[in-house]
Amino acid sequence: MSSVITYLKIYRFGMYAVKPFDPWRSPMCTCPRKYVLHPYTGCGHGCLYCYASSYIRNFFNPRPKKSLGRALVKDLGKLPLGTVIEMSTSSDPYTPPEMDLRISREAIREILERGFRLLITTKSTLVLRDLDILARYRDKVAVAITITTLDSGVASVLEPGAPHPEERLRAVRKLSEAGVPTLVRLDPIVPYVNDEYSLVAKLVDRAVSAGALQITSSTYKARADSLKRLLNAFPHVSSKIVEAYRAGERIGGYLYLDRDRRLEYMKMVRELTLRAGAAFNTCREGFAELASRGFSCDGSSLIGRGSLFKF
Ligand code: SF4
Repeated sequence: MSSVITYLKIYRFGMYAVKPFDPWRSPMCTCPRKYVLHPYTGCGHGCLYCYASSYIRNFFNPRPKKSLGRALVKDLGKLPLGTVIEMSTSSDPYTPPEMDLRISREAIREILERGFRLLITTKSTLVLRDLDILARYRDKVAVAITITTLDSGVASVLEPGAPHPEERLRAVRKLSEAGVPTLVRLDPIVPYVNDEYSLVAKLVDRAVSAGALQITSSTYKARADSLKRLLNAFPHVSSKIVEAYRAGERIGGYLYLDRDRRLEYMKMVRELTLRAGAAFNTCREGFAELASRGFSCDGSSLIGRGSLFKF
């Protein structure tokens, strides 16, 4: 109850840098209560399926938040110690400018040194630059790395600004070897683009062998701008993609695939994941029954379980 009151108070009085997580009012979101920090507005990875680009102007041109350091310290002072903070939900904390600016690195240090728990969600191998801090606080941190396909041709079109998938797998391995719990997000599955069974099976196997303790998956939810990008980039399957979404349903401002097809995809990834020996969950799909017990969708429940947990 007291944490609910704290949450409401903070919402009411406002915070600049750290904010309660708001999944754009998605009725399907199953995330536990947490806070988010976005050191950057926008993201340079340029993923065709990106959802944030439909909410944020000039999205693919990342720019750092102004005076972040001071605001972060102030905001952290209002939160109970141990609160989970995620970096980030609608940009990547390791978007290309971070290489030189090191704003996310400073934020990570500040958050962990002050006694908070941290979930990092990224596609970038730049996270390995900060392994010194992450390994030191391995019991307070978890890292989710998104890998949607191991087909480098598809990945280079789908996520043109992100590191090669093999490099991302290397990051999973390095983090895991350092005792930092990792999750791989196979997120999203786009029909006819990265949904082939053999490729999904290979990705899941390689991710778990690299040390991922959990796989979280989802299907692509269409919005006008991202769908247009996908159809232009994959013209040979564009009519099939359109047909698949025409047969789907509208939920919370997004066009979903039809329920049966989504369930089929999620069951496929679940079966492969459990067989490989990791935990499974979904993101905004409405299939809570598929989740491994005790494992939140976002990976925050892995915090503190890195060295203790073995399947
Ligand atoms: S990494 Fe995430 S935030 Fe950045 S473009 Fe890709 S989907 Fe969008």
